[in-house]
Amino acid sequence: MKLNQLQNEIVELRNQKDVTILAHYYQELEIQEIADHLGDSLGLSRIAKEKAKTKYIIFAGVLFMAETASILNQDKHIIIPSLEACCPLANFLNRDIVNQYRKEYPELPVITYVNSTAEVKAESDICCTSSNSVNIIKKISKEFGVEEVLFGPDKNLAEYAEERSEISVIKMPGKGHCYVHSHLNIDDIQEVREEHPSAQVLVHPECEKSVRDYADYIGSTAGIYSFVEEHHTGQKDFIIGTEKGLLDRLTVDFPKNKFNLASDGLICEDMKKNKLETIKMLLENLDNERYEVKVPEDIAKKAYNPIEKMLKFST
Ligand code: SF4
Repeated sequence: MKLNQLQNEIVELRNQKDVTILAHYYQELEIQEIADHLGDSLGLSRIAKEKAKTKYIIFAGVLFMAETASILNQDKHIIIPSLEACCPLANFLNRDIVNQYRKEYPELPVITYVNSTAEVKAESDICCTSSNSVNIIKKISKEFGVEEVLFGPDKNLAEYAEERSEISVIKMPGKGHCYVHSHLNIDDIQEVREEHPSAQVLVHPECEKSVRDYADYIGSTAGIYSFVEEHHTGQKDFIIGTEKGLLDRLTVDFPKNKFNLASDGLICEDMKKNKLETIKMLLENLDNERYEVKVPEDIAKKAYNPIEKMLKFST
């Protein structure tokens, strides 16, 4: 991998400073290439807690991810390269909505997807990611002795987890969705499959049910990566039904295979707001508080337990 001049300057600065750079798979390849660690939500949450020993963490992702890192690392400075990089899915749910559902169903556990705000996590019994949602629902329903759970904010992940866990899910608020994954439809995939008839279709559980039912494999971002890792020698073509950043990664890591994006619309504009230029500026000004994400101590304390419980349940 040959880095360009700006990337080399960033790597040099990064090596001189007490900083770790984390990047989500949905970042542009040029940002993935200068990161210390690359991963999906669960992987990066673990790294932020267990491996990132530096005073500063630059988190190239969206706001809820930086908030999660702040909750797990109250003693560290968590910095995000774009303050506008939010997740519209997370904004479907807030503390008041969660509390309304709690009032209506006081006996049921509240499970929230990590793609939620810190204040929502603070009101939850446990968090989950797209890779562990089924397992978490099974374990928490057993712990509470119930056959039904409250789940938010993604309705498609809720449905998927309900199908796989066979535990009833009440969606909070019922309409939450990711604008990137939920817009993928069967017509898009079929069009790509006509050109690549032997390709396997791999999609994210945030996709609609019709798309999930059509797919050969459904998995989280890291799950799709692992699936390719396991099957790439016996399979040439793949159709990728998640954000383009993962396809870029796979194309580099598995050069003998062909990866086709299931739709041109699979681009998260929010994830792409982070830029190399800003990362360099932040490395030169690590004490610039403007880009720091600090979850207030009282919310962080409450939100810590549901995340910690998820990490324990996922081992
Ligand atoms: S891809 Fe969807 S869920 Fe992920 S950050 Fe973008 S809007 Fe949020």
